[in-house]
Amino acid sequence: MNCLSVDLKAYALGEPGGPGETAHIESCESCHEELERLRVTHAALLALKEEEVPRRIAFVSDKIFEPRWWQRVWHSVPAMGFASAAILAAAIFVHAYARPVTNVQPPAIDTAQVEQRIESEVSKRLDAQVSKAMAKVVADSEARETKLARLLDAAEKRFASERQSDIAMIQQTAQYYRDKIGQVMVASNRISGEGQ
Ligand SMILES: [Zn+2]
Repeated sequence: MNCLSVDLKAYALGEPGGPGETAHIESCESCHEELERLRVTHAALLALKEEEVPRRIAFVSDKIFEPRWWQRVWHSVPAMGFASAAILAAAIFVHAYARPVTNVQPPAIDTAQVEQRIESEVSKRLDAQVSKAMAKVVADSEARETKLARLLDAAEKRFASERQSDIAMIQQTAQYYRDKIGQVMVASNRISGEGQ
């Protein structure tokens, strides 16, 4: 049993897990987190108002995705959990369609095709979003690096100029003592010369 063979969507929708499935989900951190995300999304979708249902149905049957619905879900779930959230949402819509409804004849829907279409749309949008986020991260870190490089440069220059002034001061001091020693020697030579 591995992560790919576990049907988390079904599990999140309350279907009993197959043999080994429950055990895997409980012991696998990644599946466990994914399941939590699916459950949160499921709860969030169930909490949507009743009057928003037609819009959601339009989302499945329309040629283009309903933008407002997408935007709302996009902002309500963390980006990385988005793909699974949308798949789960699709599963819920399909489930709603498949459920026999009195008076209303549900239109025939190719669930696999719908799910595939949603999946490809989601991965397209997710890719765009992720690459935008990555570009921002790269740009940010580049900006930080440039700033850091400038700071280092400035610090180095300051250090160098401090070192230079230190050296200059040492040289001056040395010169001062050299002069002093010279004077003392001249004086002592003179004194010893006078003494003779
Ligand atoms: Zn797993």
